This record gives sequence, structure tokens and C-alpha cells, in this order.
Amino acid sequence: MRLVDNLYAYTWQGSDNNSNAYVFASALSDNRHVIIDPGHVTTPFFHEEGLEMVGNDMKKDGLDAAAIGLVILTHAHPDHCEAAIVIREKNNAPVGLHKADEPIFQRFGGTVDFYLEEGEFELNGENKTRLQIYHSPGHSPGHITIYWPKNKVLIAGDVIFYQSHGRVDLPGGSASLLKHSIERLSELDIEYLLCGHPYGHPGIIKGKEEVQRNFDFLKKYILG
Ligand SMILES: [Zn+2]
Repeated sequence: MRLVDNLYAYTWQGSDNNSNAYVFASALSDNRHVIIDPGHVTTPFFHEEGLEMVGNDMKKDGLDAAAIGLVILTHAHPDHCEAAIVIREKNNAPVGLHKADEPIFQRFGGTVDFYLEEGEFELNGENKTRLQIYHSPGHSPGHITIYWPKNKVLIAGDVIFYQSHGRVDLPGGSASLLKHSIERLSELDIEYLLCGHPYGHPGIIKGKEEVQRNFDFLKKYILG
């Protein structure tokens, strides 16, 4: 589904746990696409074909999954990045991740081609997509979130969900770091908050007020 400009959202529709995927269409100089968090190739319990489902959904929007030329990972948990390994091989697409999550990714066979770190990150297509990367640890040590100032979009990965936040009990997790990350992101001007999972909600929080309400809820009832 096209969300805004050339940004498409593929919220997970299956029964198993898997991440939402987001695509910046034709955002590279060779007109290829950029995918963020492609998810599982096959989900672990019900064996749903996650990567194939994203490809089929892209096709409905006129986008060819074979034309994915770059993979960006918010963090290295398998439910977000397993498919990155396949896309990298098949499409010869480099994979970007924060250095602090590289050991997690390597543990299940992933290779990082370039590091994503706090600061500006530009997709070099005809219409330049200027993104801002925030290092947002807490759910994992090298978690990043991606802000697109032009359309006030925040791709939040597993930092923020609808009325919830990412777990902090996995290796490298930290409740105090997550709280700090969320507080920092709450200062941004956000119209579209795009979550890493469809937990109890598709995971696309639209409109400045709705986004603010979600931050308020987290601060009041969850973060304390
Ligand atoms: Zn995760």
C-alpha cells in the first residue's frame, strides 16, 4: 500500500510473528527500491512465506521485488532481517545495519555491507530522499530509527508500537536506554509513525495528534 510519496507500507497480515516491511520505491540512482526490515523468509511456527508475501504485495502496487537494490535493517532480530540475507544474495543488494547489532546478525549468518549510524543518510535516486538516522537503543544495542523530515515519517522498528513498546528482555536490551530513546523520538514532528509489528493494530499511526496521544500513553502508563 502506498503511504506517502514513494513510500509503501507492507504491514504483516499473517498469523505468526513477523515484522512490517517498508519500501522506498525507485529511490536509488538505478531506479531500484529500498526495503526496510524485510522480515522472515519463512516464519518459524506456521511456516508462512513472509518474503514471498511481501513480494506479492509489492507486485499489486506495480513494484518488482527483484528490483530491490538496498536493504536497511532497524535491528538484527531474525523477524526483521532474515530475508535480508536472501535479498542480498539474489539481488546483489547491500545490507545496512548499526555496528552494535552486527554480532547478532552474524550469529545466524548475516553479512553487513555498510554501517548505519546516527546522522544524515541520503538515498541517491533522481529525487533525493534525505533521511535522518537516530541511534535508538534499548530493544537491541544497535537499534536505529529512521526519520524522513520531508513527510514527517518515523520508521520506529521495535522501539514504539501502538500503546506499547519493544521488549527489553532480549540480549543487549535495556529498559532505561529504551525509555531515553522514546523520550528523544517524542520530540520529533511526526505525521506517520510506522511500527515494526502489527501488534493489536496495523502499526501505522497516522496524524500528529494520534502520534502524540501514543507518546503520552507510553509516558503515562508504561514508562512511568
Ligand atoms: Zn526485535
